[in-house]
Amino acid sequence: MTASVIDGKAIAAELRARVAAEVTRVKQDHGLTPGLAVVLVGNDPASEVYVRSKHKQTQEAGMASFEHVLPADVAQGDLIALVQKLNNDPTVHGILVQLPLPKGLDTQAVINAIDPAKDVDGLHPVNAGRLASGMNALSPCTPLGCIILAKSVHPSLEGMNAIVIGRSNLVGRPLVQLLLNENATVTIAHSRSRDLPKLTAQADLVFAAVGKAEMVRGDWIKPGATVIDVGINRLPAADGKSKLVGDVAYQEALKTAGAITPVPGGVGQMTVACLLVNTLRAASAINGLKAPAV
Ligand code: NDP
Repeated sequence: MTASVIDGKAIAAELRARVAAEVTRVKQDHGLTPGLAVVLVGNDPASEVYVRSKHKQTQEAGMASFEHVLPADVAQGDLIALVQKLNNDPTVHGILVQLPLPKGLDTQAVINAIDPAKDVDGLHPVNAGRLASGMNALSPCTPLGCIILAKSVHPSLEGMNAIVIGRSNLVGRPLVQLLLNENATVTIAHSRSRDLPKLTAQADLVFAAVGKAEMVRGDWIKPGATVIDVGINRLPAADGKSKLVGDVAYQEALKTAGAITPVPGGVGQMTVACLLVNTLRAASAINGLKAPAV
C-alpha cells in the first residue's frame, strides 16, 4: 500500500482564493480593506524569506500589507511602542511580530503588548486561554492549517484517536485544543513521554511537531493512519546544498500511512494561508461584521 499524498500547496491555494473572494466582498459591501502589519526585527535570512512571502500573499489576497523592519539592537521599549502604535491604527487589523526575536528582547512581553483582537498569530495569553476554554479565539496559524489538512482526508475527526508529538505554545498545545474542538481523542506526547512508537501506533491521526529530522519512523505508524508532518529540518544534501525534511521518515511512512503530507509542500504552505484567514476574521470582528465564510 502506498499512502496518498496530501497536497498542501493546492489546498492552500484554494483557501487563499476563498479569502481573496471574501476580501472583495467586504470591500464592496462595507468599504473595509483588511490590513496586516508584520514586524521584522533584525536580518535573520529565514525570517526575511517568511516576511517577504507573507507580504506578497497578503497583497495578492487584496489586503493591505504593512512592513516594519527594525534593527536587531532595537530597544525593547521602542519595539513595544511600535506594537502599541499598530494597536491604535484603524487600518491595521492584524499584527504579527516575526519570531524568533534577536537575543536580548523579551518575546513574551512583546506578545503581551499586542491587542488580542489583532493577534493574528494567536499567541497572546488571552487568545491561548480563550482557545483552551473552548471559546471563540484567534488561533495559531500552523495548527489551524494542520486541522484543515486532516479534514481534507477525514471531513469529521470526531472520535478519532489523534497523537500530537510536541507541546510548544506555537504548535503542539493549540493543536491539541483545536483537535478537542473537533471531538477527537487526543494523546499529547513530548520529550518525556515513554514508548513513543507504541503511543503513535494507536493513533488514526499523527501530528509530528518536534523539530527532529525523520524521528517518527514508518513502523511506528498504524497502517492506514493519516500523518501530518509539521517539522521543517534542514539536512546537508549530497550536492553540498541542504534539503528540507520533516519530523517523519517520509519514504518509510509512505508504505504504512493511508495519507501523508510532504515536506516541503504540506503544512508549511498552509501557515500563511491561515494567517490571511485570521487577518480577515480579525478585520471582520473589529468592525462588527459577521465571521467570514472561509
Ligand atoms: P519546539 O522546539 O518549540 O517544540 C518541540 C516539541 O517537541 C517540544 O514540546 C519537545 O518536548 C518535543 N520533543 C523534542 N524532542 C522530542 C523527542 N525526542 N520525543 C518527543 N518529543 C520531543 O518546536 P516548535 O513546536 O516550534 O516546532 C516544531 C517543528 O515544527 C520544527 O521543526 C519547526 O521548524 C516546525 N514548524 C513548522 C511550521 C510550519 O509552518 N510548517 C511552523 C512552526 C514550526 P518538551 O516540551 O518536553 O521539550
